[in-house]
Amino acid sequence: MTEDQITQNQMERGFLRIDLDAIRGNLEKMHRTLRSGTGMIAVIKANGYGHGAVRIAQALEEVPYVFGYAVATAEEAFELAAVCKKPIMLLGYAFPSVYEEFVRAGIRPSVFREDTLEALCDIALRTGRKAVIHIPVDTGMGRIGITPDDAGLAFVQKAAKMPGIEIEGLFTHFARADEEDVTPALEQLRLFTGFADRIRQELGVEIPHIHAMNSAGILRIQAADTDPKNLDLVRAGITMYGLDPSGEVTGRALGLQPAMSLCSHISFVKEVLPGQSISYGGTFTASEKMLVATVPLGYGDGYPRALSAKGEVLIRGRRCQILGRVCMDQFMVDVSAIPDVRPFERVTLLGRDGAECITAEELGALSGRFNYELVCLLGVRLPRAYESGGTVFFDPGGNP
Ligand SMILES: *Cc1c(COP(=O)(O)O)cnc(C)c1O
Repeated sequence: MTEDQITQNQMERGFLRIDLDAIRGNLEKMHRTLRSGTGMIAVIKANGYGHGAVRIAQALEEVPYVFGYAVATAEEAFELAAVCKKPIMLLGYAFPSVYEEFVRAGIRPSVFREDTLEALCDIALRTGRKAVIHIPVDTGMGRIGITPDDAGLAFVQKAAKMPGIEIEGLFTHFARADEEDVTPALEQLRLFTGFADRIRQELGVEIPHIHAMNSAGILRIQAADTDPKNLDLVRAGITMYGLDPSGEVTGRALGLQPAMSLCSHISFVKEVLPGQSISYGGTFTASEKMLVATVPLGYGDGYPRALSAKGEVLIRGRRCQILGRVCMDQFMVDVSAIPDVRPFERVTLLGRDGAECITAEELGALSGRFNYELVCLLGVRLPRAYESGGTVFFDPGGNP
């Protein structure tokens, strides 16, 4: 088989359709709500929340207010560094084995430990480069970061004095910005900006970029213009993909558009007689004659097994119920209401078909899975087709 045929087979079985125009539009809609001059970091960790990090970064290279990209692992950073010119920062901890490659490639690690500072400084001096870093401040997430106190101040002072180190950014991360009550996030912000002020006033150190807002912060705090004026970057993740940070905080008012849809094609249609069971465990038994279609996708593609007997798909714009258990690579749906349905017809598992739409939030609620998690996992095995400027291109370089 040629590579083209292999790609076509994968697309027939099922593919994620990623709307790059929607992603650019979502950033634009958010950017309009920010104080003028504020830049955006596109958070494309976990392969762009399953949407495909490389293609997204390429689509954002020319957007002037996109400062750069944030990822979670060194592998993600290297993959992007090979194709992008804008700064790439790593939000989590980078292990020492990658420091030299980071310094050479100009990738910005998050640095909050002295051993990391020292190792980076040594490499920078040895290679004649600068290690450009962002420093995370733990104001309530309890994950990584220096503390916003005298010890934290001493850390920043040490970093600022090291010849091989360039502090490009200082940031913090909200634990609870996606809740109805915005008080805990504002308290974190108060601690963070107070600490940033101390760095400026007591150390006389000017850090060029100060950032705190995640998606929920952009929608709730920065848009309400309660943000302190010294923040100049925001980090947009879930809302860039058109999804909601939580049930309480949504992008609906801004008109954000989901960028991912998931389609498959029917592999088999058959009549099932009363008393016949469907799928593992025989948890569904037909009580009357019905028409059943097989869909060749399953939990091996990240489609939740918890949707067994609960989820629905769209065929010809109609909702069709899942019958019995979702298998690793296939599941069955009730198509009795569409008597002339045929193999190869399109099945929409996520997204719009005619007047009906299945959202990541709906599938998440039905399967007990967080919408962030749902889209990440859908990105694991399925190939992607990207839509940009009205044309669609398949991506043979995507998964698998
Ligand atoms: C994941 C992450 C983000 C993006 O979060 P969203 O809720 O998707 O906007 C921002 N900052 C940090 C540090 C993160 O880990």
